[in-house]
Amino acid sequence: EKRVYFFGGGQAEGSAKMKDLLGGKGANLAEMTSLGIPVPPGFTITAKMCEQYYKNGRKNSDDLVEEVEEHLHRLESTVGKKLGDKDSPLLVSVRSGAAVSMPGMMDTILNLGLNDEAVIGLQKSTNNERLAWDSYRRFINMFGNVVMGIPHEEFEKEMDKVKYKKNVEEDVDLDANDLKELVKLYKALYKKQTHEDFPQDPLDQLWKAINAVFGSWNNPKAIKYRKINDIKDLLGTAVSVVAMVFGNFGDDSGTGVCFSRDPSTGEKMFYGEYLMNAQGEDVVAGIRTPKRITTLQDQDPKLFQTLVDVKDRLEKHYRDMQDMEFTIQEGKLYLLQTRNAKRTGAAAIKVAVDMVSEGVISKEEALTRVTPLQLEQVFHPAIHPATKKKVKAIAKGLNASPGAATGQIVFSADEAEEWHAEGKKVLLVRPETSPEDIGGMDVAEGILTSTGGMTSHAAVVARGMGKPCIAGCKEAQIVNKKMVIKGQEFKEGDWITLDGASGEVFEGKLELKEPEIKGELTTFLSWADEVRIHSYRASKGLKGFGVRTNADTSTDAQRARDFGAEGIGLCRTEHMFFEEEKIKIFREMIVAADDEARKKALDKLLPLQQKDFVGIFEVMNGFPVTIRLLDPPLHEFVPKDDDQIKELAKIAGISAQALKNKIRSLHEENPMLGHRGVRLGITFPEIYRMQAEAIMRAACEAALKGVQVYPEIMIPLVGHIRELEIMRGHVEEVAKKVLQETKAKIDYKIGTMIEVPRATLVADELAHHADFFSFGTNDLTQMTYGFSRDDVGSFVPQYIQEGILEDDPFAKLDQEGIGQLIELGIGKGRDTNKYLKIGICGEHGGEPSSVDFCYRAGMNYVSCSPFRVPVARLSAAQSVL
Ligand code: ADP
Ligand code: MG
Ligand code: MG
Repeated sequence: EKRVYFFGGGQAEGSAKMKDLLGGKGANLAEMTSLGIPVPPGFTITAKMCEQYYKNGRKNSDDLVEEVEEHLHRLESTVGKKLGDKDSPLLVSVRSGAAVSMPGMMDTILNLGLNDEAVIGLQKSTNNERLAWDSYRRFINMFGNVVMGIPHEEFEKEMDKVKYKKNVEEDVDLDANDLKELVKLYKALYKKQTHEDFPQDPLDQLWKAINAVFGSWNNPKAIKYRKINDIKDLLGTAVSVVAMVFGNFGDDSGTGVCFSRDPSTGEKMFYGEYLMNAQGEDVVAGIRTPKRITTLQDQDPKLFQTLVDVKDRLEKHYRDMQDMEFTIQEGKLYLLQTRNAKRTGAAAIKVAVDMVSEGVISKEEALTRVTPLQLEQVFHPAIHPATKKKVKAIAKGLNASPGAATGQIVFSADEAEEWHAEGKKVLLVRPETSPEDIGGMDVAEGILTSTGGMTSHAAVVARGMGKPCIAGCKEAQIVNKKMVIKGQEFKEGDWITLDGASGEVFEGKLELKEPEIKGELTTFLSWADEVRIHSYRASKGLKGFGVRTNADTSTDAQRARDFGAEGIGLCRTEHMFFEEEKIKIFREMIVAADDEARKKALDKLLPLQQKDFVGIFEVMNGFPVTIRLLDPPLHEFVPKDDDQIKELAKIAGISAQALKNKIRSLHEENPMLGHRGVRLGITFPEIYRMQAEAIMRAACEAALKGVQVYPEIMIPLVGHIRELEIMRGHVEEVAKKVLQETKAKIDYKIGTMIEVPRATLVADELAHHADFFSFGTNDLTQMTYGFSRDDVGSFVPQYIQEGILEDDPFAKLDQEGIGQLIELGIGKGRDTNKYLKIGICGEHGGEPSSVDFCYRAGMNYVSCSPFRVPVARLSAAQSVL
């Protein structure tokens, strides 16, 4: 077994393909080395050794110790320097890196190998006293923090003392003597906090650092990050030990991060930031305000060109946008990291579409480059244009992550989590954020920081989360739970609005506007449709996999059409009844004393329903519309307060007391399993008959206007064949009557919802009387699991926390259990009728993993809420691919 992989001198044992073992960082360092890109030499300890470290009770095997030391010697001879040498010491960084990048979550230590002797050696060999002591103080700080857990602020305090004494603001203003002094203070601090002297043996330092990096795999923030990002099944972190190069060598040295395109918009432009005479994370940590990468062109055109060439090469090689770290030592460029850049949803789409037109990737590949989650981000709101015209920004920062958000100010991540738990919308407002804050960032609507640049922690994390973020808003002074902007004070709980796209901050709660589909997005989604419909059809000789929507009104239906829905998979008729006028007539119908009174009310309802349906058919011209007959228990519609009861009693011509009795008689102990769905149809066939008539009349009316209509009448909650048989009889009778009367020709279907577990077991029988099945997976999940949909909040979160459940089964279809019933139902249904049309209309229809399941199970379409239609289009295409 090989435990350690070397890279250096133009050759590497590893490669980019070995991310699982070497981590993204180690694998790409190896790859870049082989490509001949200037990378300091080093070696990578595999992630498997991290796994073993934990298995052995936080110890390393003798074999590993031996192999690491061998590689260390190889590194020493490659560089021609020795660790801890008192004349010319080798210094290394010890870096974490997992297979999936987790920026800032784990630890890295720089300048390892320095001690009281080696620091003199470094001074001599580089002829740079300041560099030597600057590196030593950084090392003690990082080692003390990462290995021994001394809070970083404690070191900051010592630094501030020295700065104060010297009366300077920035660390670059400290000279070698100041730094020497600082090293003394740091060592004293180290001793005070750990009761040990700062370790002088470089090998001892090395192993402590390696173990600390292994240990950082399981620090709380890393665990939380993996949870939030659903990262599972990794071995652990690899550890790369890399020879140091010095960005803090002087004014012709520096360090920076850059992207081959703009990670926020996807625009093809070189993008990045750097700082001269700085090391490691100074840029990201926002210690000084970094410079734009384009400034480097004026400063050192040749070096800039080298960097441009490298980024072009890397992007071409990896065939994707790169995020790179580099260091300049005495005018020479070194690359320290490259990876596929994290990006916003908008950037993901633009880069994918652009790379197709540049001929770098195929359309199919482009479709795999955007995750459904990223696509969802593009549908983030903006401040309503009409509102925006009227208001003036109170401050402007960097537009670090697009989208608009409005919420109440909180000043700490913990508070963000607390307020969020109380159901409040919060904006996290901080001087800067750090990896400890990700829990709070995750629940915040948006993030505002007063310091830091476009590559600061807040900016990077917010972009990944698809959240609006304004960084480096200098006008905002944030101290002691207060934010002051130009003299105006904002307290915790005050409302503000952020526009992450422009970087503007607004006072108060502004109206937001939902986004629309255009430009690259249209192109991208059309490719998704092409794959989903055409290539699939062509290759399998089958009909495409459709994406429909759940919509109850013509407005929702229109929005869904704009988002690309190909019909309605679920139109819930009862939602129409909740309008002011209709609910009154509907109530009259429910409480009717006799059949005649009920008929009178139904006659009034019919034209109203018919009108609604006409509107929907018009919008869905040419596409099928599945309409579900009345589903919820009747008592949901009855009035609750006395005034309404009095009014209704008057209309119904009965006493208030009689009405109250009637209402009481409708009460059910367990309404979700009670008198609802087809059971209402059986007991009050005239209700279903009225609805069927309204649908058919609407269809005829629309058809006469030239609209192509395909009504699909759906009977809910069927569990027994007789239920369906009887209701189908009623609906058919009404439909034939209407068609005879109007002489219209309508291609209509009658089908059923499959949502009672029994229905899946007798699906072969049901298929004799159904032209289509639609799986109502909300109820099917509720009834199969026996989890009340409305009460899962009280126990499912704990189930998830304890790992009993991986996901909420109402959000992600439970493929293992409920999935079996669905497959059974489909199989049995198609045994009876090979061409049975089958879809899903539960909330799962827009959730990517569930969409994939539906496709594999052989459904003809999924149906979901309008806003999820584009996500379903992409998920469906990705399933087909
Ligand atoms: P992270 O994963 O948090 O980015 P890294 O291991 O990439 O951590 O390192 C942190 C910082 O230190 C980065 O800016 C990186 O470029 C810099 N760095 C790491 N190793 C070296 C080295 N050998 N020489 C100079 N800078 C280094
Ligand atoms: Mg890095
Ligand atoms: Mg249902």
